[in-house]
Amino acid sequence: MTRLSGITPSGHVQLGNYLGAVRRWAAEREPADLFFVSDLHAMTTPHRPQRLRALTREQFAVLIAAGIAPDSLFVQSDLAGELGALNWILECTCSYGEAARMVQFKERGAGQDGSRVGLLTYPVLMAADILLQGADQVPVGSDQDQHVELARTLARRFNSSYGQVFAVPEAVVPRTAARVRDLADPGRKMEKSSPQSPGVVFVLDEPDVIRRKFRRAVTDGLDRIRYAPDDQPGVANLLEILAACTGTSPYTAAGSATTYAELKEAVAEAVIEELRPLRERTSELLNDPAELERVRAHGAKRAADRAQPRLQAAFHVTGLR
Ligand code: ATP
Repeated sequence: MTRLSGITPSGHVQLGNYLGAVRRWAAEREPADLFFVSDLHAMTTPHRPQRLRALTREQFAVLIAAGIAPDSLFVQSDLAGELGALNWILECTCSYGEAARMVQFKERGAGQDGSRVGLLTYPVLMAADILLQGADQVPVGSDQDQHVELARTLARRFNSSYGQVFAVPEAVVPRTAARVRDLADPGRKMEKSSPQSPGVVFVLDEPDVIRRKFRRAVTDGLDRIRYAPDDQPGVANLLEILAACTGTSPYTAAGSATTYAELKEAVAEAVIEELRPLRERTSELLNDPAELERVRAHGAKRAADRAQPRLQAAFHVTGLR
């Protein structure tokens, strides 16, 4: 069983990415699981080249620092040749209507002259990511379900039109993990692509920056520390973060402070401690470009070795080469 998970370098890795995904990936991974930094997917909206390169490197280093085995890790664009080829074959397997029906495209790009064609076709590239690595399970949130469904449809259609080449993947619901909310706006989830928000904590933030962000976290005027997500979303978010960093439940965490100021300080210190080894290891890696390049090249080679037989088979059955 191979599970494939990715993270897009659309911003610096934030606390929600770490507590909700990366930390769990490292702790629960099976030997066949695969992880990748999806830099090609970060190009569907206007981007800055230098920033994309730096963010890709940073995310790759964070994933290694978090404990993900280098054998199971790669950068998407290191496979651009293989992916580009399969992407074209799958675009020629997918109808325009199927791509245009994707809810994310309808919400973010449909009908706008300036929106990139890549925004329409990136679910097909996502299908190529999945099928090329032979992943049979793709842990995704509900916003990506429809894209995995498209990958299933394309795999089935390809296999029945040309011959059995691809495993048909299925979306699996990741085990419930912390869903971290923006400290400045607990009504929305913390997101790495909203760097202008003062309520996004990045895993590489300096301790003092983390303290300042928590000190300014939005709470309420009720002045009571109870875990009540509906009535007190800001306080509940702080309790969930504290619980995730100290290995307790949010209900238990509620007993650890009597004032909001105390609670904010306790959460900030717990987060700083939780992130300390990750920050240290990531900065070591970022300061050792040769080692980082070595690990990256190794991951790229392993990913290409997994991809090549399927790609060659796809060429063969479709009448190419
Ligand atoms: P973007 O701002 O580009 O949408 P993002 O921060 O939402 O980025 P993704 O790259 O879409 O992050 O997701 C990477 C992983 O992090 C996914 O598994 C996603 O479920 C998880 N994740 C993202 N944000 C949070 C959050 N606030 N709480 C918990 N998990 C999160």
